[in-house]
Amino acid sequence: MTSSMSDSAPLVFRLHAGTPSVVRKVLLEQGWEEYDEEMHKEDDWNLYWRVSAFHNSDYQNLKPWQRLNHHPKVVGITRKDSLARNLRRMKGAFGSALYNFSPVAFILPNDYTRFLEAYTVHHLANGGRATYWICKPVDLSRGRGIFVFRDIKDLVYDSPVVVQKYISNPLLISGYKFDLRIYVCVKSFCPLIIYIHQEGLVRFATEKFSLTSLDNVFAHLTNTSINKFGPRYSTDKEHVGQGCKWTLNKFRCFLRSQNSNELLLWQQINNIVTLTLLAATPSAPFSPNCVELLGFDVLIDENFKPWLLEVNYSPALSLDCPADNTVKKALIHDLIDLMNYSQMDGLRQRGYLTKRFINLCYSQALQTKTSPVYLIPKHTPGFTRQKRSHSQPRSSFEKNEDKLVQSDVSVPPCRVGDFILTFPFNDATLKASQENLDVKIAFQELHRLNNHLAAFCNLKDERRKECA
Ligand code: ADP
Repeated sequence: MTSSMSDSAPLVFRLHAGTPSVVRKVLLEQGWEEYDEEMHKEDDWNLYWRVSAFHNSDYQNLKPWQRLNHHPKVVGITRKDSLARNLRRMKGAFGSALYNFSPVAFILPNDYTRFLEAYTVHHLANGGRATYWICKPVDLSRGRGIFVFRDIKDLVYDSPVVVQKYISNPLLISGYKFDLRIYVCVKSFCPLIIYIHQEGLVRFATEKFSLTSLDNVFAHLTNTSINKFGPRYSTDKEHVGQGCKWTLNKFRCFLRSQNSNELLLWQQINNIVTLTLLAATPSAPFSPNCVELLGFDVLIDENFKPWLLEVNYSPALSLDCPADNTVKKALIHDLIDLMNYSQMDGLRQRGYLTKRFINLCYSQALQTKTSPVYLIPKHTPGFTRQKRSHSQPRSSFEKNEDKLVQSDVSVPPCRVGDFILTFPFNDATLKASQENLDVKIAFQELHRLNNHLAAFCNLKDERRKECA
């Protein structure tokens, strides 16, 4: 992936303390140079990567050639309580038929009375049989503080929590529960541009699933941070193997071996991602030159229905096992390629040489309604693999630099590496996504797409039956 640097100085990255080492490794492999206070001027960098959120001033002072790896205000979907609140709002506004992919959730203590009502209703509806619930602290991650319960007397908490209906019939592989970590890149919120990575992770529990042992975290939670300390982590488990992870590719092979309706499952997962991000879009401010890599955790039940468990901000990028090595390095390579830096680098260099662009910062672009520099490259639509290439001719913007700071909201590339464009997915959604997103058209088109797909899958099923 190393690019030729013959015609330009290397791109420069800054990493905040705690950035996973794979990010540095990939950027160096791609020929970037690390920011050095002694060597570089204050704004002489192209990408600043942080695990935690940036400060408002970081966005305000952004230069046209600089990018950040977070959009502002993404917490609307990445905190457990905000996600529950936002999805509930969307359910209320657009109907529970559409927003039926997240388990019913209550934010306690505020929703305690509502939870009590739901608990009683479920209890009676089940003829006294147990309904299972899961309690999660709102601001913790990696499975910390989570427990599953049946009886309300076991619900004990001393900080705000989300209590969610527990999916008690998960799809199992050889008796083991698992969930999927789907990597999503929001390249822009205005217009909304979503890519889903084809590769991802399957994260297994390391002990067999059983509803008789609710307090066994190694059977009920699929977090690696928990299972790597489980007694059976290194055991060669039937089908699952050693450790607790598969790549999504391996999972696809498994689905094929089971004759499952894979296409429908992925489309449902795409829908979950789009509908969740549509919930976040209204609050996301205009933020050119930011990207966001999110980790969507999806659990599949025994009826093959995918459920959204949560959306992770700065998903873990540590390399703990072979599956991590396969997935995460390629993911970061593709993410950097998706940013398509070839034009921006030239802008930084000339900005520094001529000082012409130095004052055209993000906030000024906003105030003067000057179109910002979008991350969307000029290109022709189609399934072309977009690779950053420093040896590409840059004549279009070298001839007319001013044009560069004008936006050119064209069709984003359909595929960059293993990142697949999932929104917008046709002319109508492209048009609807620009400026003030027309959510209703987005829903309408998603609905149409799903109907097409369902018809296609039915046809395929019928043909298969005829052939059998
Ligand atoms: P964290 O941010 O702490 O990882 P999650 O919401 O991802 O919190 O939950 C941790 C794990 O608990 C998940 O990976 C999954 O295995 C399990 N889990 C969470 N919510 C549910 C649910 N509603 N039904 C079944 N299992 C769940």
